[in-house]
Amino acid sequence: MVNNAVRGKVTSPPPKQSPVGFTPTGAWALATMTGVLGYWVSLQLNPPPAKAVAAGSSPASVPSAYGTSDDLQKCLEELRAAFPSEQVSTNPNVIHEHGYSTNAHHPAADPSVVVYAHNTEDVVKVVNLSRKYRIPISPYSGGTSLEGNYGSINYAGISLDLSAMDKVLEIHEKDGDMVVQAGCRWDDLNDLLKDKGIPLFFPLDAGPGATIGGMIATGCSGTNAVRYGTAKAEWFLNATVVLPSGEVIKTRRRARKSSAGFDTTKLFIGAEGTLGIVTEATIRLAPRLPTSVSVAQFPNVELATEAVTEILNKGVPIQCVELCDDKQMEAINRGGFAGRSYPEVDSIFFKFQGTPASIKEASSITQKICKAHGSTGFISAKNEHEADDLWHARKTALWSNLAMVPGSRAWSTDVCVPMSRLPQLVQETKEDLAQHGIVGMVVGHVGDGNFHTSLLFKNEEELDKCKEAVHRMVERALALDGTCTGEHGVGIGKREYLYEELGPGTVELMKTIKNTLDPYNLFNPGKLYPDEQPASEKH
Ligand SMILES: Cc1cc2nc3c(=O)[nH]c(=O)nc-3n(C[C@H](O)[C@H](O)[C@H](O)COP(=O)(O)OP(=O)(O)OC[C@H]3O[C@@H](n4cnc5c(N)ncnc54)[C@H](O)[C@@H]3O)c2cc1C
Repeated sequence: MVNNAVRGKVTSPPPKQSPVGFTPTGAWALATMTGVLGYWVSLQLNPPPAKAVAAGSSPASVPSAYGTSDDLQKCLEELRAAFPSEQVSTNPNVIHEHGYSTNAHHPAADPSVVVYAHNTEDVVKVVNLSRKYRIPISPYSGGTSLEGNYGSINYAGISLDLSAMDKVLEIHEKDGDMVVQAGCRWDDLNDLLKDKGIPLFFPLDAGPGATIGGMIATGCSGTNAVRYGTAKAEWFLNATVVLPSGEVIKTRRRARKSSAGFDTTKLFIGAEGTLGIVTEATIRLAPRLPTSVSVAQFPNVELATEAVTEILNKGVPIQCVELCDDKQMEAINRGGFAGRSYPEVDSIFFKFQGTPASIKEASSITQKICKAHGSTGFISAKNEHEADDLWHARKTALWSNLAMVPGSRAWSTDVCVPMSRLPQLVQETKEDLAQHGIVGMVVGHVGDGNFHTSLLFKNEEELDKCKEAVHRMVERALALDGTCTGEHGVGIGKREYLYEELGPGTVELMKTIKNTLDPYNLFNPGKLYPDEQPASEKH
């Protein structure tokens, strides 16, 4: 069992609270205004007759084909009979926590019931009851996703919480892999390996507290992606998945390579719980090497990204390369997490890894290249403690940003473009934010052309302005041959862009797979797959 005590550590996300200006009632009003009618409310006020979904119909076009309020009651009774009382909750606070997120800013509604699974068999039981009574089911694990990925939207139902499935089942040090339950948190796993003296780590670093199941589902990545790639690289060797039919499959064995058929593990990576519920996975580990950190200052983002391009193209062994713009550096200084103060200019954080000698060489080459591209300063950590402080400054950026405007919340964006287009996108975005009076910081995985802005808002008027700015940012990224989401996933927040980004053929292929596996559209409905007329979905 992974030690749960670490869950309260400093780097964990702050506890959930009701969004500013968004009480349950307020959020419900917004949902109603935008035409999103909650299934839960419809069950209470106007129970629809249960009816089967026509084969081949689009998942997004069959919102009312679920069980009646009687069916929901019967399903609840069977859930209560099948599980100990502590595993089934209709407590309003618990339910609310599984429907809303302070980190997401899209319409949402509470589920009807939360069920805590402890193992694959529990998940099968819930899936079978969901199918029997046609009650939708949304997986929930770390609850750190940012695009309304797990909450209810048109159709509340069962929230299946897998966070208690946090057992490490096997560690294979010689093979460089481990088998874990889907509710294990990546940061706990790395702490565990360190505590056990195993010189390996899992390199995908999504938000603090994210779990293996959620990370598979969102197709995550993070600061390490420039060196190790994303969830779509082979960090998940196999997954055990409960399908909507209730069948349990294991996508592959534990061998590092396999050419046996196409990659069914990948089918579930980025599927956001719409095709299957992941209960276990074999994750691949990388050697944990010594690291060090440097920060370079630049006159502007363009020069900074030019330097990064040359550094990466020369093959300098970089583990992470992160851009923080002048506003972000100001926030880091004011946040006080960095242990020191930095020049408040566009800066790049580099993390090097390897032997002390190779780190020294990499740092020296990097400094020279930065200088050739006009860098105005280069600060290197002198020891591990300083390196930790420097990196902590980057990792706690969100909390530093929130401290800049007391009482604010942050909308975190994550468009991604080919690297050469990044300076244009960042520049235009900064001008746009300034023009519309939005407080926003840029922090990005610049080595992948992926960047986040933290857009701060305190009320609904400012939130509306942020929404419009996010929309313009995505359109700009798409025009530059980029994507609406580099790592956070689609959820409900980015659905409207999928047709434009991927083209109708690709989206229809996704829907065909969805319809085949989940003909009753029970798994996380309303997420990922957009309606055919995206313009009508804009919110
Ligand atoms: C401060 C902060 C920083 C972040 N930084 C990053 C970053 O650098 N990179 C990045 O990629 N993301 C980042 N995120 C976003 C978030 O951490 C990721 O999206 C993460 O992968 C979500 O994992 P989770 O366990 O919290 O999933 P949840 O939020 O619980 O769920 C996410 C989605 O996965 C589905 N799901 C959950 N568990 C399962 C399962 N077992 N089987 C099938 N489907 C499932 C849910 O239904 C939902 O659709 C950040 C978030 C925060 C708050």
